[in-house]
Amino acid sequence: MLCQTSDELQHFVEEAKKHTKEGKVANYIPELGKANPDQLSIAIHYPDGRCISAGDIQTKMTLQSISKVISLAFVLMDRGFRYVFERVGMEPTGDPFNSIAKLETMAPAKPLNPMINAGALVVTHMIKGDTVQDRFNRLLRFIRGLADDPSIDYCERVARSEFETADLNRALCYFLKQHHIITEDVETLLDLYTKQCAIEMNCLDLARIGLIFAMDGKDPLTGKQIMPDDVARICKTFMVTCGMYNASGEFAIKIGIPAKSGVSGGIMGAVPGRFGIGIYGPALDDKGNSVAGIKLLELLSKNYQLSMF
Ligand code: GLN
Repeated sequence: MLCQTSDELQHFVEEAKKHTKEGKVANYIPELGKANPDQLSIAIHYPDGRCISAGDIQTKMTLQSISKVISLAFVLMDRGFRYVFERVGMEPTGDPFNSIAKLETMAPAKPLNPMINAGALVVTHMIKGDTVQDRFNRLLRFIRGLADDPSIDYCERVARSEFETADLNRALCYFLKQHHIITEDVETLLDLYTKQCAIEMNCLDLARIGLIFAMDGKDPLTGKQIMPDDVARICKTFMVTCGMYNASGEFAIKIGIPAKSGVSGGIMGAVPGRFGIGIYGPALDDKGNSVAGIKLLELLSKNYQLSMF
């Protein structure tokens, strides 16, 4: 059984919204601190083109860490599996997304997976192109294609705000550069990475992208294979094992949906073969996941038996 109407969804949003008070908006990127913590929205996109939604659905969010799974797909297509996985691993860390700890204790100093910041920085480093502009435009074009929305762009204010304050990510980059995992200028890489993280959309677009992952890389509405099914499969697997940071295990048990979250409060879900989900709820729990967003997914998963396990 599936959730059929926006009214049904509205009921779950109202229930989950009570939990926004338990969280706080991220403010280590100062611009993100301006978000309204009471907001919650969701869209579900089905392969037949139906889209149901509820809450503050027009509010835009920046992708932040959700962009990591998209840049991974892009780079896997650009460079091939072998090249990518020589430089970034496949294992969850159990550490916070911005942790530097395992980089120092593991040899070689290859980031454990592409969903933590260290791994995502390596993935962004691998995006081909001559200039930041060129590399960014290629990624943006890919994202516009996934969402079937040519108006998607990035938020300059959020990108700048992160660029000016990203000292921990700078530290990760310098460490990786010292170990020859990345070779480019750190400021150049951060310029590209912070723009990537600041790509902006509403939950409707996010659900549309989730749908492509859910349908093994094929857009069921246009019939276009946007990414090879193998790439979509790898991305969904990372979403299960590392998509919700160091809460991924609990999330898999309680909800059981491949999902990727970001500190803006976004969550993209891809229910295999069934539908895509986009959520925005900027109040975060202590691991950096949308507190009401997780509640909402928990309610939906229980009610409609969405767990894939
Ligand atoms: N841009 C953010 C950062 O690198 C993304 C982190 C996240 O969403 N968890 O810190």
